[in-house]
Amino acid sequence: MGEVGWCFDNSYGRLPAHFYARLAPVPVAQPRLVLCNDALAQQMGLDFSQVDAHTLAQQLSGNQLPTGAEPLAQAYAGHQFGHFTMLGDGRAIVLGEHLTPSGQRLDVQLKGSGRTPFSRNGDGRAALGPMLREYIISEAMHGLGIATTRSLAVVATGEVVMREEPLAGAILTRVAASHVRVGSFQYLAMREDEAGLAQLAAYTLARHYPERQGGDNPALELLKGVLQRQLSLVVAWMRVGFIHGVMNTDNTTLSGETIDYGPCAFMDHYHKDTVFSSIDHAGRYRYGNQPRMIRWNLARLAEALLPLLHPKPNKAIALAEEVVFAFDDRYTASWREMMAHKLGLFELQDGDDALMEQLLTWMQQSQADYTQTFRQLSTPAGSPPWLASLEPWWQQWQARLARQAQPLERVYARMQQVNPAIIPRNHRVEAALQAATEAGDLAPVRQLVAALQDPYHDGVAQQAYVTPPAPAQVAHYQTF
Ligand code: AMP
Ligand code: MG
Ligand code: MG
Repeated sequence: MGEVGWCFDNSYGRLPAHFYARLAPVPVAQPRLVLCNDALAQQMGLDFSQVDAHTLAQQLSGNQLPTGAEPLAQAYAGHQFGHFTMLGDGRAIVLGEHLTPSGQRLDVQLKGSGRTPFSRNGDGRAALGPMLREYIISEAMHGLGIATTRSLAVVATGEVVMREEPLAGAILTRVAASHVRVGSFQYLAMREDEAGLAQLAAYTLARHYPERQGGDNPALELLKGVLQRQLSLVVAWMRVGFIHGVMNTDNTTLSGETIDYGPCAFMDHYHKDTVFSSIDHAGRYRYGNQPRMIRWNLARLAEALLPLLHPKPNKAIALAEEVVFAFDDRYTASWREMMAHKLGLFELQDGDDALMEQLLTWMQQSQADYTQTFRQLSTPAGSPPWLASLEPWWQQWQARLARQAQPLERVYARMQQVNPAIIPRNHRVEAALQAATEAGDLAPVRQLVAALQDPYHDGVAQQAYVTPPAPAQVAHYQTF
């Protein structure tokens, strides 16, 4: 694949051998390119037009390895819904790290690439629908300006995967700042491998937090850096009504990117307890619980790092606690700032908390659409008729805006930068996936992805996706 422009330098494979298993993707019967992200390819300095579609499909399915690839499956552990398990890449292979022309180092991973030593009882494969879904939602997150892994391509394998029913198989090419997770550290901590922990901490600090290098406590710097990024990430999720759905510690990255688009979904009407995942019975990962869960995961990271933080256990614990216990206040401050931005407030004042809480309470009671409400508030049209029961609040909010120095047009323009006109709504995603998997029609997926590249813009492409679903359409929406 040299001619496409791959430029591999595989630093993870230079870490100790027990951090991963070296193996190639398992070949597939008949790879066919279904979706390709040309904009991302271009940013990566790749030119897919240099090879024909057949060759590209061979390469993005793992049937042919690009020059410089050194495929491996990463070892990791994780708390899944609170329970500790040894895991690892059971259906994914990292081909290597591509260096972009601008000097970024990006993992290129094939997801659905066949069995590995970490597959346990799984088949190592993925179905077309879920891989297209990951493509749509991860690219939507990118469009929304939220840190995320990206999707470079989806290739159909020409093989059948057995789930509740036989489904078409597919492989997603996932691009990530790295695949180092909280679970990567837990894996080494479980093995009581202090030397390995120190190596992975130094590696991760250098790769993701170079600005924090050079201090006398690299593990502490790493913990602080990850806490800051994961905190900002969850605030961004809350801003757009994103519910990750499976915030296990193996799905929490050290880079601060959103990863693992399985049961995730965007909330339509606002309710803080919204949960879509069919397996999240207790609502552990419900919308309003996400900050608590990310803090829990950060505490697990802190625990894994303890032996590096200080030679004396009680001192190590004190250092870890100081960082993790600061989460709540910092999160609250960050969330308020975000909500102020959504409401067009340039600076927080007394009474603003009440303004925020009253709006959310009204939305929850009246089952108002989260995205639409904020977007309509960002549009200078006066109190719209659908807001009738919100009128008293609206008057108060308008009075508050009037007390600011900034003119209203600036307020609305700024609000529109954080209140998207569109999100990947579940009913539209499902309809697009159905067209793709049942009729082989990729046009709806392509249109949806294209509109979501510019979600803060109210253009022609976006207008088609503005309308929320009818309540009956979403009453029992579940992801799997
Ligand atoms: P997830 O819940 O998606 O984060 O996955 C948890 C673990 O299950 C990871 O170690 C995955 O690699 C593994 N896994 C998920 N699906 C499969 C599959 N079809 N075959 C093998 N392993 C899988
Ligand atoms: Mg995962
Ligand atoms: Mg997953």
